[in-house]
Amino acid sequence: YEDNGAKQISLLLRTVPILNELFSIHYKVGEGTFSSVYLATLKNSLQSKNFAVKHLIPTCHPGRIERELQCLKDIGGKDYVVGLDLCLRHAGSVVFVMPFMKHDKFSDYVQDMKPIEMKGYMKALLTALHRVHKFNIIHRDIKPSNFLYDRSNKKYLLVDFGLAQQYTPGVKIKNINSEINQNKFQYTERKSFNENTIDRSLKTSNKPVGDKCYCFGKSKICSLCLIRPSQAASRAGTPGFRAPEVLLKYPWQTPAIDIWACGVMMLSILSGTQPLFRSPDDMTALAEITAIFGSNAMQQCARNLGKKLIFSSEIPGIDIVLLCQKLQTRKKYSKSTASETFKQEIRFNYPEDAYNLLAKLLDIDYKTRITADQALLHPFFNS
Ligand code: ADP
Ligand code: MG
Repeated sequence: YEDNGAKQISLLLRTVPILNELFSIHYKVGEGTFSSVYLATLKNSLQSKNFAVKHLIPTCHPGRIERELQCLKDIGGKDYVVGLDLCLRHAGSVVFVMPFMKHDKFSDYVQDMKPIEMKGYMKALLTALHRVHKFNIIHRDIKPSNFLYDRSNKKYLLVDFGLAQQYTPGVKIKNINSEINQNKFQYTERKSFNENTIDRSLKTSNKPVGDKCYCFGKSKICSLCLIRPSQAASRAGTPGFRAPEVLLKYPWQTPAIDIWACGVMMLSILSGTQPLFRSPDDMTALAEITAIFGSNAMQQCARNLGKKLIFSSEIPGIDIVLLCQKLQTRKKYSKSTASETFKQEIRFNYPEDAYNLLAKLLDIDYKTRITADQALLHPFFNS
């Protein structure tokens, strides 16, 4: 940040004046789709403790703010889940004050995490998720920028419950946008969100394409299909981390969607590749997943969800261990040497158990995908 967010800081202090009485805000540490986060210390205190001050964008839906606050209060402060020290509201502005944790950038460690380091990282992530899921909450936005890692002190922190949702087994996951429309709250998505973290529904044909349909196997949609009621399912989350059942707009989503995202993070580390899936849209995301798992497996996965997936040709799928090893030995950009040099990355010998756990996290069938508590008992962490 060129000016360390100085302009935004002075605006924030004018928007929430009590903040100025209590805290010195130093600089901006991060920015997501729905907030800006600043480093702050208490005024008039001998304590030099650092705080993270998260200022939510004023157009954030009140229901979303309430949910985030509730999660921080109920779940936070234990098992690597960020806690809450204070919540301030002034007129339409809301600020969360949390313990600050310095952290490294994922791109700085994804390429050179040794097996032992990766084990600690994944264990902490799954421990945090185990806690979240115990509360029947789906985080919905598991990704490296929401799981902070202080490499030198081996500290971890799961943050950002901005998209979290309550999960009741057997009940359709509500779409936050439809709630917003019903309540007639003014809601604006950040203009520059650029298909980043978004929360909206994709409407698709509700019924499987049957005999009466005229467009079966054709590229055009027939008039019968056009008038079919549409199906809305939550797809809140970040491209590249969405589970197959989210991409296929399955309405009965479960905490397993967070486990899939953990699997994507682990795959990134095992392959030393980031971003792994570029996923500019949901169809491309499905194609990327299909490239790994093959079209037959994906069609079966869709069938299990009551959906039909059609491919123009059969895609065989690939061995995930070979994929990781191949990606690891690619020539990669080297940070340690001068800007334009490249070096051959040394391949780490991740144990077989690591790949076994990866396959269980990235199970395309959400029903058989490993849960956080089962994963913590996996031999990878216990051998
Ligand atoms: P958003 O909902 O806008 O994505 P986040 O809660 O993810 O907001 O915060 C955005 C960024 O701010 C994070 O990626 C991280 O870099 C930084 N951040 C958030 N919470 C903390 C914290 N407690 N300590 C240090 N940095 C934090
Ligand atoms: Mg975030």
